[in-house]
Amino acid sequence: MDLPQIQHRIRTFRDQRDWMQFHNPKNLAMSIAIEAAELMEHFQWKTSEESAAHSDSTKAPIADEIADVAIYLIELADNLGIDLSAAINAKLDKNEAKYPVEKARGNITKYDQL
Ligand SMILES: [Mg+2]
Repeated sequence: MDLPQIQHRIRTFRDQRDWMQFHNPKNLAMSIAIEAAELMEHFQWKTSEESAAHSDSTKAPIADEIADVAIYLIELADNLGIDLSAAINAKLDKNEAKYPVEKARGNITKYDQL
């Protein structure tokens, strides 16, 4: 499925349940953070190595949480009239300019310190 098809499916799911009345930007932004916290819960208290091993062995519930974040994110962008593909590409353009490969490769220093 491409993004417009996914947006259509999300709208249909929401509208069949008459949930648009609850899906204002505040509630959707909060829902993104809540679902991101549910995703983080899978890795809480694990070392880097344990979290990598855990994500190999329990992909399905982690995929569910990633999907929850994405669904709310896609709906928020859609409701705000933001072209998500264009916004992602524009932000990647900015990130490429802020983190030129020759300065940032293998280096986690923030862009204003490079
Ligand atoms: Mg969830």
